[in-house]
Amino acid sequence: MATKHHLRSLTRDEFLAEFKELGQPAYRADQVLDWVWKKRVDSIDGMTNLPAKLREALKEKFDFTLPIHTRTQGSVDTTRKFLFKLHDGRFVECVLIPASPALYGEKSDRLTLCVSSQVGCAFGCKFCASGLLGFTRNLSAAEITSQILLAEEIAGARVNNLVFMGMGEPLANWPNLSKAIELITSDWGIGIGARHLTISTSGLVPQIRKLADHPRQIRLAISLHGATDEVRSQIMPVNERWQVDELFEALRYWNSRKKQHLTLEYILIEGINDDLEQARILAKRAKGIRAKVNLIPYNKVEGLPWKRPSDSRCRQFRDILQSAGVSATLRLEKGHDIEAACGQLRLQEENKVGELS
Ligand code: SAH
Ligand code: SF4
Repeated sequence: MATKHHLRSLTRDEFLAEFKELGQPAYRADQVLDWVWKKRVDSIDGMTNLPAKLREALKEKFDFTLPIHTRTQGSVDTTRKFLFKLHDGRFVECVLIPASPALYGEKSDRLTLCVSSQVGCAFGCKFCASGLLGFTRNLSAAEITSQILLAEEIAGARVNNLVFMGMGEPLANWPNLSKAIELITSDWGIGIGARHLTISTSGLVPQIRKLADHPRQIRLAISLHGATDEVRSQIMPVNERWQVDELFEALRYWNSRKKQHLTLEYILIEGINDDLEQARILAKRAKGIRAKVNLIPYNKVEGLPWKRPSDSRCRQFRDILQSAGVSATLRLEKGHDIEAACGQLRLQEENKVGELS
């Protein structure tokens, strides 16, 4: 039997086609869409304005299993990390980040959610908890979007900024990612504007070009972490496949297609990529593509030897970028530790339940 489509994985056009096949009028498809995305019921029986017979037909035809919230780390007014259990017992995590008054002002109502795109990751960056267990599987569009709906339900608030910086490499899950982008940005769906959606990638060049051609004005962040091939290849195996020059060529192509500025993410790891010469090369490269640089002092991962440099080294690194005229941010507050360390909660959980494979 063919696998059933999930109700949170269909676009409006697909819904209309499915309902036509069921012999149902278009307005019924819109009613279901409304239950799924606006009223947000968690069962087909909850769709109370549908005839009972149609509800039974929908149960036959569609899947509507949802992830379950199993754990929260953090507190209400700081960054909170949620762990969700998927239908096959796998775990996925996402991180809810309220605006920091120091960065955005007291009145900012910015609420960012960092979502995952895969269970594990195949790219094996040496510093990353997500890469540590290897790759398990892609998340479906329904599993990607369900993270947003669940986080909003737990928080009792609407997310208005979305970043794909959780577990996994979003651009290696292109079919489900592009579907999810449509569900997230459409008015009939979650309704977060494309300009408030950032995809982060470790540098998959062909997919960056593909995303550059995507009609929506999505934002892009690149996990660079090394300004030269020598340094980057040491910690990111993906650099053997697409080296820094080739990556930047794709970023120039991105600039030719999109209005939004690119962001280069650069984790600072002591003795690995924090040499000030790297800062000088990074400054040149960032200027060449008019990118902002986000410096992130490394978060300790259990079982890995890497450490963050001293605060003063981090500031020196930032100052070189800023004096070269590059917009560079550096956050040293400890409160943000949890934020950039996606993959760690799942690592603990899978170790605990002995699902390490
Ligand atoms: N695979 C994509 C999306 C994940 S983003 C990518 O790599 O861009 C997750 C971000 O957190 C990446 O920039 C990653 O390099 C960074 N990161 C991973 N482990 C980290 C750690 N221990 N401390 C700080 N940042 C980390
Ligand atoms: Fe995968 Fe990104 Fe982690 Fe690298 S940094 S292992 S690409 S999730």
